[in-house]
Amino acid sequence: MSNMKIETKCVQSGYTPGNGEPRQIPIIQSTTFKYATSEAMGQLFDLEASGYFYSRLQNPTCDYVAAKICDLEGGTAAMLTSSGQAANFFAVFNIAGNGDHVVSTSAIYGGTYNLFAVTMKRMGVEFTFVSPDCTEEELNAAFRPNTKAVFGETIANPALAIFDFEKFSRAAHAHGVPLIVDNTFATPVNCRPFEHGADIVTHSTTKYMDGHGAAVGGCIVDSGKFDWLSHADKFPGLCTPDDSYHGITYAEKFGLAGAYITKATAQLMRDFGCTPAPQSAFLLNLGLESLHVRMARHCENGQAVAEYLQQHEKIAWVNYAGLPGNKYYDLAQKYLPKGTCGVVSFGVKGGRKAAEKFMAALKLCAIETHVADARTCCLHPASATHRQMNEEELIAAGVPGDLVRLSCGLESKDDLIADLAQALEQV
Ligand SMILES: *Cc1c(COP(=O)(O)O)cnc(C)c1O
Repeated sequence: MSNMKIETKCVQSGYTPGNGEPRQIPIIQSTTFKYATSEAMGQLFDLEASGYFYSRLQNPTCDYVAAKICDLEGGTAAMLTSSGQAANFFAVFNIAGNGDHVVSTSAIYGGTYNLFAVTMKRMGVEFTFVSPDCTEEELNAAFRPNTKAVFGETIANPALAIFDFEKFSRAAHAHGVPLIVDNTFATPVNCRPFEHGADIVTHSTTKYMDGHGAAVGGCIVDSGKFDWLSHADKFPGLCTPDDSYHGITYAEKFGLAGAYITKATAQLMRDFGCTPAPQSAFLLNLGLESLHVRMARHCENGQAVAEYLQQHEKIAWVNYAGLPGNKYYDLAQKYLPKGTCGVVSFGVKGGRKAAEKFMAALKLCAIETHVADARTCCLHPASATHRQMNEEELIAAGVPGDLVRLSCGLESKDDLIADLAQALEQV
Protein backbone atom coordinates (compact mmCIF):
# COMPACT_ATOMS: atom_id res chain seq x y z
CA MET A 1 0.00 0.00 0.00
CA SER A 2 3.08 2.22 0.15
CA ASN A 3 2.03 4.29 -2.90
CA MET A 4 -1.56 4.78 -1.70
CA LYS A 5 -3.02 7.82 0.05
CA ILE A 6 -3.17 7.89 3.85
CA GLU A 7 -6.98 7.46 3.83
CA THR A 8 -6.66 4.20 1.89
CA LYS A 9 -3.84 2.98 4.13
CA CYS A 10 -5.97 3.58 7.26
CA VAL A 11 -8.58 1.21 5.87
CA GLN A 12 -6.55 -1.33 3.92
CA SER A 13 -2.93 -1.63 5.07
CA GLY A 14 -1.45 -4.35 7.22
CA TYR A 15 -3.63 -7.33 6.44
CA THR A 16 -4.62 -8.74 3.07
CA PRO A 17 -6.70 -11.91 3.26
CA GLY A 18 -6.11 -14.71 0.80
CA ASN A 19 -8.82 -16.64 -1.02
CA GLY A 20 -11.58 -17.66 1.41
CA GLU A 21 -9.83 -16.15 4.43
CA PRO A 22 -11.54 -13.86 6.98
CA ARG A 23 -12.13 -10.31 5.72
CA GLN A 24 -11.51 -8.82 9.16
CA ILE A 25 -8.20 -9.32 10.96
CA PRO A 26 -8.36 -12.66 12.79
CA ILE A 27 -7.80 -12.52 16.55
CA ILE A 28 -5.13 -15.18 17.06
CA GLN A 29 -5.88 -15.83 20.72
CA SER A 30 -3.04 -18.26 21.22
CA THR A 31 -0.01 -18.02 23.49
CA THR A 32 1.94 -20.55 21.50
CA PHE A 33 2.43 -22.00 18.02
CA LYS A 34 3.00 -25.59 16.87
CA TYR A 35 5.95 -26.86 14.81
CA ALA A 36 6.60 -30.21 13.18
CA THR A 37 10.22 -30.49 14.29
CA SER A 38 12.44 -29.13 17.02
CA GLU A 39 14.79 -28.08 14.25
CA ALA A 40 12.16 -25.75 12.72
CA MET A 41 11.47 -24.17 16.09
CA GLY A 42 15.18 -23.85 16.87
CA GLN A 43 15.61 -21.70 13.77
CA LEU A 44 13.03 -19.27 15.12
CA PHE A 45 14.83 -19.10 18.46
CA ASP A 46 18.09 -18.36 16.66
CA LEU A 47 16.37 -15.59 14.62
CA GLU A 48 17.38 -17.59 11.54
CA ALA A 49 13.78 -17.87 10.36
CA SER A 50 10.86 -15.52 10.93
CA GLY A 51 7.69 -16.86 12.45
CA TYR A 52 5.81 -17.15 15.71
CA PHE A 53 6.63 -19.24 18.73
CA TYR A 54 5.35 -17.42 21.81
CA SER A 55 2.98 -14.44 22.01
CA ARG A 56 5.09 -12.60 24.59
CA LEU A 57 7.46 -11.80 21.72
CA GLN A 58 5.20 -11.68 18.68
CA ASN A 59 1.65 -12.49 17.70
CA PRO A 60 0.17 -12.39 14.17
CA THR A 61 -2.81 -10.18 15.10
CA CYS A 62 -0.51 -7.61 16.72
CA ASP A 63 1.84 -7.78 13.74
CA TYR A 64 -0.95 -7.06 11.21
CA VAL A 65 -1.79 -3.89 13.11
CA ALA A 66 1.87 -2.89 13.58
CA ALA A 67 2.31 -3.29 9.82
CA LYS A 68 -0.59 -0.90 9.21
CA ILE A 69 0.88 1.77 11.51
CA CYS A 70 4.30 1.20 9.89
CA ASP A 71 2.77 1.91 6.49
CA LEU A 72 0.87 4.97 7.78
CA GLU A 73 4.13 6.44 9.10
CA GLY A 74 6.17 5.41 6.07
CA GLY A 75 8.56 3.26 8.13
CA THR A 76 10.38 -0.01 7.49
CA ALA A 77 9.52 -1.93 10.69
CA ALA A 78 7.19 -1.55 13.65
CA MET A 79 6.06 -3.27 16.82
CA LEU A 80 3.06 -2.85 19.09
CA THR A 81 3.56 -2.53 22.84
CA SER A 82 1.13 -2.85 25.73
CA SER A 83 1.04 0.93 26.32
CA GLY A 84 2.49 4.22 25.15
CA GLN A 85 4.70 4.23 28.24
CA ALA A 86 6.18 0.89 27.19
CA ALA A 87 6.71 2.26 23.66
CA ASN A 88 8.68 5.29 24.87
CA PHE A 89 10.63 3.20 27.39
CA PHE A 90 11.58 0.61 24.76
CA ALA A 91 12.34 3.25 22.12
CA VAL A 92 14.95 4.89 24.35
CA PHE A 93 16.21 1.87 26.31
CA ASN A 94 16.84 -0.04 23.07
CA ILE A 95 19.77 2.31 22.38
CA ALA A 96 20.58 3.96 25.75
CA GLY A 97 21.53 2.14 28.96
CA ASN A 98 23.45 2.61 32.18
CA GLY A 99 25.97 5.45 31.74
CA ASP A 100 24.24 6.95 28.71
CA HIS A 101 22.56 10.30 28.21
CA VAL A 102 19.55 11.57 26.24
CA VAL A 103 18.46 15.08 25.27
CA SER A 104 14.70 15.63 25.54
CA THR A 105 12.43 18.63 25.23
CA SER A 106 10.85 19.60 28.54
CA ALA A 107 7.42 19.90 26.85
CA ILE A 108 6.42 16.24 27.05
CA TYR A 109 3.69 14.09 28.54
CA GLY A 110 3.83 13.94 32.37
CA GLY A 111 4.14 10.14 32.38
CA THR A 112 7.07 10.30 29.96
CA TYR A 113 8.75 13.00 32.05
CA ASN A 114 8.46 10.77 35.11
CA LEU A 115 9.75 7.74 33.18
CA PHE A 116 12.80 9.70 32.03
CA ALA A 117 13.57 11.93 35.01
CA VAL A 118 12.92 9.39 37.78
CA THR A 119 12.66 5.76 36.68
CA MET A 120 15.19 5.66 33.84
CA LYS A 121 17.53 7.79 35.91
CA ARG A 122 17.46 4.98 38.49
CA MET A 123 18.51 2.66 35.66
CA GLY A 124 21.53 4.89 34.97
CA VAL A 125 20.22 6.84 31.95
CA GLU A 126 20.53 10.61 32.40
CA PHE A 127 18.33 13.14 30.64
CA THR A 128 18.88 16.81 29.90
CA PHE A 129 15.60 18.64 29.34
CA VAL A 130 15.69 21.64 27.01
CA SER A 131 12.94 24.13 26.26
CA PRO A 132 11.14 23.43 22.96
CA ASP A 133 11.92 27.08 22.14
CA CYS A 134 15.66 26.83 22.93
CA THR A 135 18.18 28.32 20.53
CA GLU A 136 20.41 26.07 18.44
CA GLU A 137 23.33 27.03 20.69
CA GLU A 138 21.44 26.00 23.83
CA LEU A 139 20.38 22.76 22.16
CA ASN A 140 23.89 21.89 20.98
CA ALA A 141 25.27 22.67 24.45
CA ALA A 142 23.00 19.97 25.93
CA PHE A 143 24.86 17.15 24.14
CA ARG A 144 27.57 15.09 25.83
CA PRO A 145 29.98 12.49 24.46
CA ASN A 146 27.65 9.77 25.84
CA THR A 147 24.42 11.22 24.35
CA LYS A 148 22.51 8.48 22.48
CA ALA A 149 19.26 10.09 21.31
CA VAL A 150 17.10 13.20 21.10
CA PHE A 151 13.43 13.00 22.14
CA GLY A 152 10.41 15.22 21.53
CA GLU A 153 6.65 15.19 20.88
CA THR A 154 5.12 16.43 17.61
CA ILE A 155 2.37 18.15 19.62
CA ALA A 156 3.31 18.24 23.28
CA ASN A 157 0.74 16.82 25.72
CA PRO A 158 -0.58 18.95 27.36
CA ALA A 159 1.53 22.05 26.55
CA LEU A 160 0.51 21.86 22.84
CA ALA A 161 3.92 23.15 21.75
CA ILE A 162 4.63 22.19 18.13
CA PHE A 163 7.96 20.42 17.67
CA ASP A 164 10.57 22.21 15.59
CA PHE A 165 11.63 19.17 13.58
CA GLU A 166 14.26 21.01 11.57
CA LYS A 167 16.04 22.39 14.61
CA PHE A 168 16.02 19.18 16.63
CA SER A 169 16.80 16.78 13.76
CA ARG A 170 19.72 18.93 12.62
CA ALA A 171 21.21 18.90 16.12
CA ALA A 172 20.61 15.15 16.61
CA HIS A 173 22.21 14.23 13.29
CA ALA A 174 25.12 16.65 13.76
CA HIS A 175 25.90 14.69 16.95
CA GLY A 176 25.45 11.28 15.29
CA VAL A 177 22.33 10.21 17.19
CA PRO A 178 18.74 9.46 16.13
CA LEU A 179 15.72 11.67 16.72
CA ILE A 180 12.84 9.87 18.47
CA VAL A 181 9.46 11.59 18.15
CA ASP A 182 6.26 10.74 20.01
CA ASN A 183 3.60 11.38 17.35
CA THR A 184 0.59 10.51 19.52
CA PHE A 185 -1.42 13.74 19.25
CA ALA A 186 -0.80 14.42 15.57
CA THR A 187 -1.15 10.83 14.29
CA PRO A 188 0.32 10.06 10.85
CA VAL A 189 -2.86 11.51 9.32
CA ASN A 190 -1.78 15.03 10.30
CA CYS A 191 2.02 14.66 10.47
CA ARG A 192 4.53 12.06 9.37
CA PRO A 193 7.72 12.81 11.35
CA PHE A 194 9.94 10.71 9.04
CA GLU A 195 9.30 13.30 6.31
CA HIS A 196 10.78 15.94 8.62
CA GLY A 197 13.96 14.24 9.84
CA ALA A 198 12.77 11.94 12.66
CA ASP A 199 14.34 8.48 12.74
CA ILE A 200 12.04 6.65 15.15
CA VAL A 201 8.40 7.36 15.93
CA THR A 202 6.43 6.26 18.99
CA HIS A 203 2.73 6.32 19.76
CA SER A 204 0.37 5.95 22.60
CA THR A 205 -2.27 4.22 20.47
CA THR A 206 -4.57 4.66 23.48
CA LYS A 207 -5.35 8.15 22.17
CA TYR A 208 -6.59 9.04 18.67
CA MET A 209 -5.54 5.78 17.02
CA ASP A 210 -7.92 3.76 19.17
CA GLY A 211 -10.04 6.86 19.59
CA HIS A 212 -12.89 5.21 21.50
CA GLY A 213 -11.36 4.81 24.95
CA ALA A 214 -11.33 1.03 24.51
CA ALA A 215 -7.76 -0.26 24.70
CA VAL A 216 -4.46 0.96 26.15
CA GLY A 217 -1.58 0.40 23.73
CA GLY A 218 1.56 1.71 22.11
CA CYS A 219 3.63 1.40 18.96
CA ILE A 220 7.22 1.99 17.84
CA VAL A 221 8.06 2.56 14.17
CA ASP A 222 11.55 2.70 12.67
CA SER A 223 12.23 4.76 9.54
CA GLY A 224 15.17 2.50 8.67
CA LYS A 225 17.10 5.67 7.87
CA PHE A 226 19.48 5.98 10.81
CA ASP A 227 22.86 4.46 9.96
CA TRP A 228 23.82 2.66 13.17
CA LEU A 229 26.99 1.17 11.70
CA SER A 230 28.53 4.53 10.83
CA HIS A 231 28.13 5.43 14.53
CA ALA A 232 29.01 1.95 15.75
CA ASP A 233 30.98 3.20 18.76
CA LYS A 234 27.82 4.84 20.13
CA PHE A 235 25.50 1.89 19.56
CA PRO A 236 27.29 -1.30 20.60
CA GLY A 237 23.94 -3.00 21.27
CA LEU A 238 23.14 -2.87 17.56
CA CYS A 239 26.64 -3.05 16.14
CA THR A 240 28.37 -5.75 18.22
CA PRO A 241 27.38 -9.42 18.74
CA ASP A 242 24.47 -10.19 21.09
CA ASP A 243 25.54 -13.10 23.30
CA SER A 244 21.94 -13.86 24.17
CA TYR A 245 21.33 -14.68 20.47
CA HIS A 246 24.43 -16.70 19.60
CA GLY A 247 26.46 -13.67 18.63
CA ILE A 248 24.08 -12.05 16.13
CA THR A 249 24.97 -8.46 15.24
CA TYR A 250 21.59 -6.84 14.59
CA ALA A 251 22.75 -4.02 12.30
CA GLU A 252 24.59 -6.49 10.06
CA LYS A 253 22.08 -9.34 10.07
CA PHE A 254 18.87 -7.28 9.71
CA GLY A 255 20.18 -4.16 7.98
CA LEU A 256 19.06 -0.61 8.58
CA ALA A 257 15.45 -1.53 7.81
CA GLY A 258 15.06 -4.16 10.52
CA ALA A 259 17.84 -3.99 13.11
CA TYR A 260 16.27 -1.62 15.62
CA ILE A 261 12.83 -3.25 15.85
CA THR A 262 14.27 -6.78 15.75
CA LYS A 263 16.53 -5.94 18.69
CA ALA A 264 13.65 -4.36 20.62
CA THR A 265 11.50 -7.44 20.02
CA ALA A 266 14.19 -10.03 20.62
CA GLN A 267 15.64 -8.44 23.76
CA LEU A 268 13.16 -6.03 25.32
CA MET A 269 9.92 -7.87 24.60
CA ARG A 270 11.59 -11.13 25.61
CA ASP A 271 12.86 -9.70 28.91
CA PHE A 272 10.20 -7.14 29.88
CA GLY A 273 7.17 -8.66 28.16
CA CYS A 274 5.18 -5.44 27.57
CA THR A 275 3.16 -7.21 24.92
CA PRO A 276 -0.36 -6.19 23.90
CA ALA A 277 -3.26 -8.65 23.89
CA PRO A 278 -4.37 -9.72 20.40
CA GLN A 279 -7.88 -8.58 21.33
CA SER A 280 -6.53 -5.07 22.04
CA ALA A 281 -4.73 -5.01 18.70
CA PHE A 282 -8.01 -5.95 17.01
CA LEU A 283 -9.81 -3.05 18.72
CA LEU A 284 -6.97 -0.70 17.79
CA ASN A 285 -7.37 -1.68 14.15
CA LEU A 286 -11.07 -0.77 14.22
CA GLY A 287 -10.01 2.69 15.38
CA LEU A 288 -7.34 2.97 12.69
CA GLU A 289 -9.86 2.23 9.94
CA SER A 290 -11.66 5.53 10.64
CA LEU A 291 -8.67 7.56 11.90
CA HIS A 292 -8.53 9.86 8.85
CA VAL A 293 -12.25 10.64 9.08
CA ARG A 294 -12.14 11.26 12.82
CA MET A 295 -8.99 13.42 12.87
CA ALA A 296 -10.60 15.92 10.50
CA ARG A 297 -13.62 16.23 12.82
CA HIS A 298 -11.51 16.46 15.99
CA CYS A 299 -9.58 19.32 14.36
CA GLU A 300 -12.74 21.08 13.16
CA ASN A 301 -14.22 20.96 16.68
CA GLY A 302 -10.93 22.01 18.27
CA GLN A 303 -10.66 25.02 15.99
CA ALA A 304 -14.28 26.10 16.60
CA VAL A 305 -13.98 25.75 20.38
CA ALA A 306 -10.63 27.59 20.45
CA GLU A 307 -12.10 30.48 18.45
CA TYR A 308 -15.14 30.62 20.73
CA LEU A 309 -13.06 30.63 23.93
CA GLN A 310 -10.64 33.23 22.60
CA GLN A 311 -13.34 35.89 22.35
CA HIS A 312 -14.96 35.02 25.72
CA GLU A 313 -14.59 37.66 28.45
CA LYS A 314 -14.09 35.06 31.23
CA ILE A 315 -11.21 33.34 29.46
CA ALA A 316 -7.70 34.63 30.26
CA TRP A 317 -5.86 32.91 27.43
CA VAL A 318 -6.28 30.14 24.84
CA ASN A 319 -3.55 27.87 23.56
CA TYR A 320 -4.31 26.19 20.23
CA ALA A 321 -1.76 26.18 17.43
CA GLY A 322 -4.54 26.63 14.86
CA LEU A 323 -5.19 30.18 16.12
CA PRO A 324 -3.32 32.91 14.21
CA GLY A 325 -1.11 34.68 16.72
CA ASN A 326 -0.38 31.47 18.64
CA LYS A 327 3.32 31.07 19.39
CA TYR A 328 3.35 27.82 17.38
CA TYR A 329 1.02 28.88 14.55
CA ASP A 330 3.83 29.04 11.97
CA LEU A 331 5.32 25.68 12.98
CA ALA A 332 1.82 24.17 12.85
CA GLN A 333 1.27 25.55 9.34
CA LYS A 334 4.63 24.14 8.30
CA TYR A 335 4.39 20.64 9.80
CA LEU A 336 0.63 20.11 10.30
CA PRO A 337 -1.11 21.89 7.41
CA LYS A 338 -4.25 19.71 7.74
CA GLY A 339 -4.72 20.71 11.40
CA THR A 340 -3.17 19.76 14.73
CA CYS A 341 -5.61 17.84 16.94
CA GLY A 342 -8.75 18.31 19.02
CA VAL A 343 -6.99 19.31 22.21
CA VAL A 344 -7.29 22.94 23.33
CA SER A 345 -5.91 24.39 26.55
CA PHE A 346 -6.95 27.62 28.21
CA GLY A 347 -7.01 29.52 31.47
CA VAL A 348 -10.22 30.62 33.17
CA LYS A 349 -9.96 34.14 34.62
CA GLY A 350 -9.65 33.86 38.40
CA GLY A 351 -7.00 31.11 38.31
CA ARG A 352 -7.12 27.65 39.88
CA LYS A 353 -10.35 28.19 41.88
CA ALA A 354 -12.29 29.52 38.89
CA ALA A 355 -11.01 26.70 36.73
CA GLU A 356 -12.24 24.12 39.22
CA LYS A 357 -15.66 25.76 39.41
CA PHE A 358 -15.89 25.83 35.63
CA MET A 359 -14.98 22.15 35.37
CA ALA A 360 -17.60 21.19 37.96
CA ALA A 361 -20.30 23.04 35.99
CA LEU A 362 -19.68 21.18 32.71
CA LYS A 363 -22.41 18.74 31.71
CA LEU A 364 -21.40 17.28 28.36
CA CYS A 365 -17.63 17.54 28.75
CA ALA A 366 -16.58 14.89 31.28
CA ILE A 367 -13.68 15.14 33.73
CA GLU A 368 -11.22 12.39 32.77
CA THR A 369 -7.47 11.88 32.63
CA HIS A 370 -8.04 10.77 29.06
CA VAL A 371 -7.68 12.75 25.83
CA ALA A 372 -8.28 12.06 22.16
CA ASP A 373 -11.52 10.20 22.70
CA ALA A 374 -14.72 10.27 20.62
CA ARG A 375 -16.37 11.81 23.71
CA THR A 376 -15.25 15.28 24.81
CA CYS A 377 -13.34 15.28 28.07
CA CYS A 378 -11.36 17.75 30.16
CA LEU A 379 -8.68 17.82 32.82
CA HIS A 380 -6.85 20.13 35.22
CA PRO A 381 -3.28 18.75 34.82
CA ALA A 382 -1.72 20.53 37.81
CA SER A 383 -3.98 18.59 40.16
CA ALA A 384 -3.88 15.31 38.20
CA THR A 385 -1.35 14.09 35.61
CA HIS A 386 1.39 16.58 36.52
CA ARG A 387 0.86 16.66 40.29
CA GLN A 388 4.35 15.24 40.98
CA MET A 389 5.90 18.44 39.57
CA ASN A 390 6.68 21.58 41.53
CA GLU A 391 5.67 25.06 40.29
CA GLU A 392 8.98 25.57 38.48
CA GLU A 393 8.77 22.24 36.69
CA LEU A 394 5.12 22.89 35.79
CA ILE A 395 6.06 26.13 34.07
CA ALA A 396 9.05 24.50 32.33
CA ALA A 397 6.69 21.80 31.05
CA GLY A 398 4.28 24.49 29.82
CA VAL A 399 1.54 23.56 32.30
CA PRO A 400 0.75 26.52 34.58
CA GLY A 401 -1.54 25.93 37.56
CA ASP A 402 -4.60 27.51 35.93
CA LEU A 403 -4.44 25.43 32.74
CA VAL A 404 -7.54 23.46 31.71
CA ARG A 405 -7.08 20.91 28.94
CA LEU A 406 -10.13 20.22 26.81
CA SER A 407 -10.11 17.32 24.38
CA CYS A 408 -12.78 17.94 21.77
CA GLY A 409 -14.53 14.76 20.72
CA LEU A 410 -16.70 13.99 17.73
CA GLU A 411 -19.95 15.58 18.95
CA SER A 412 -21.55 18.62 17.29
CA LYS A 413 -19.42 21.70 17.88
CA ASP A 414 -22.64 23.64 18.60
CA ASP A 415 -23.39 21.41 21.59
CA LEU A 416 -19.81 21.62 22.86
CA ILE A 417 -19.84 25.42 22.69
CA ALA A 418 -23.25 25.53 24.42
CA ASP A 419 -21.89 23.43 27.29
CA LEU A 420 -18.81 25.66 27.67
CA ALA A 421 -21.06 28.75 27.58
CA GLN A 422 -23.37 27.57 30.36
CA ALA A 423 -20.42 26.48 32.53
CA LEU A 424 -18.67 29.84 32.07
CA GLU A 425 -21.87 31.61 33.07
CA GLN A 426 -21.63 29.91 36.47
CA VAL A 427 -18.07 31.08 37.14
C1 LIG B 1 -0.82 9.14 26.89
C2 LIG B 1 0.49 9.44 26.33
C3 LIG B 1 1.58 8.58 26.55
C4 LIG B 1 1.48 7.37 27.41
O1 LIG B 1 0.68 6.41 26.79
P1 LIG B 1 -0.17 5.30 27.57
O2 LIG B 1 -0.80 4.56 26.46
O3 LIG B 1 -1.11 5.99 28.48
O4 LIG B 1 0.82 4.46 28.32
C5 LIG B 1 2.77 8.91 25.94
N1 LIG B 1 2.90 10.01 25.18
C6 LIG B 1 1.88 10.85 24.96
C7 LIG B 1 2.08 12.06 24.12
C8 LIG B 1 0.64 10.60 25.52
O5 LIG B 1 -0.37 11.45 25.30
